[in-house]
Amino acid sequence: MVTELISVGTEILLGNITNTNARYLAEQCAALGLSCYYQVTVGDNPDRLEGALRQALKRSDVVILTGGLGPTNDDLTKEITAKVLGKNLAEDAHTRECIEAYFKTTMHRVITDNNWKQALVPEGAVVVDNRNGTAPGLIMETDDNKTVILLPGPPNELYPMFEQDIRPFLSRLTKEVIYSRTVKIGGLGESFVAAQIKDMLDSQTNPTIAPYAKTGEVHLRVTARAQSVEMAKKMIRPVLKELKHRFGINIFATHEEVTLEDKLISMLKKREWTITTAESCSGGLLSGRLINVAGASDVINQCFVTYANEAKHALLGVKNHTLKKHGAVSPQTARAMAKGAAKAAEADVAISVTGIAGPGGGTEEKPVGLVYIGCYVRGYIEVMECHFSGNRAKVREATVARAIDFARRCVIRYSK
Ligand code: ATP
Ligand code: MG
Repeated sequence: MVTELISVGTEILLGNITNTNARYLAEQCAALGLSCYYQVTVGDNPDRLEGALRQALKRSDVVILTGGLGPTNDDLTKEITAKVLGKNLAEDAHTRECIEAYFKTTMHRVITDNNWKQALVPEGAVVVDNRNGTAPGLIMETDDNKTVILLPGPPNELYPMFEQDIRPFLSRLTKEVIYSRTVKIGGLGESFVAAQIKDMLDSQTNPTIAPYAKTGEVHLRVTARAQSVEMAKKMIRPVLKELKHRFGINIFATHEEVTLEDKLISMLKKREWTITTAESCSGGLLSGRLINVAGASDVINQCFVTYANEAKHALLGVKNHTLKKHGAVSPQTARAMAKGAAKAAEADVAISVTGIAGPGGGTEEKPVGLVYIGCYVRGYIEVMECHFSGNRAKVREATVARAIDFARRCVIRYSK
């Protein structure tokens, strides 16, 4: 089923706001198995909006418009849609009550006259309640069985409405179920991963395999279309098995919601181990990401940000001799930081990070992007040398992802 998204708003055209609604809806449509072939952005201009909608209805089965449903004069989406579909607007009693209730309970404001404009609904439209605002969503059918869906622009209104009502409606429309599982791989590059499964990617039909690169991770989304979820799961099973066989320990999760840090924290919980961090160039980003996981307090007591050499010495016991002879960015210092942090925090596991995030500070021998990551696990220590590219923020972000994945691998290795 061909789907088209029309984002309405001059603000989007001018670049004043980022079109995150289109990103969200496109992703949702893909997950539902709707083929989104076109995305159009149009300003708050009646003629051009009318033109965009007429064109969309020529080439797509489902047209989803967002924005321009509000009470002001430049909000035209509903009026133009009614015109294009040849429907009259009439006040909907239920919507009027909803608007009244919303103003009373949430806004604590007097209703201005133009708000009643939002209670006008094209004949025959299905009204979708908006629990977070006043403009309802609308679902309409054209005479030639095409579907037009109007949704409010503010993301905090759009997302819950989509989750609650629009997604179930669209999945009934498609009649097939789409079921996906995501295989998450840490520490390998996208092209390397793709090369390992080239045969699978080349021959895919149903299920499909889609690789997505994230910082320090590659996700493979395996999606099947079938008559039932059970059937789709059955089709996905052998593909997951094959991916597990090919990538083994590199896989850290096979469910969309599990993050790299979730995985590491849960592995530590299972072993009743604690972890600490000793960070130089990542300056707290690593501990922050770990502590983002709910329940991280079960495995973390304290972490260290030791930026200056003096701090590395005073808090972690890194010898001045080591710092002087090998430098702060060296495998020796990374090793001493990990060991010292584990001792100071009395932790089972310690991750250390020392590197050159840039833009300054690089030399020929030690260029920007050079990072050493150390990992201590109950008496064992490993150090990894990494070279990251990009600006300071990118280097720090990539460092943290790699460090968490490295710790995950070391914990597995030294648990045996
Ligand atoms: P309102 O009732 O607030 O007027 P509306 O449905 O008329 O809502 P717009 O007036 O088009 O929607 O946009 C309202 C706000 O919603 C924008 O200022 C912007 O913050 C957000 N918004 C609109 N469209 C998008 C979009 N495509 N992506 C992200 N945010 C958007
Ligand atoms: Mg508006």
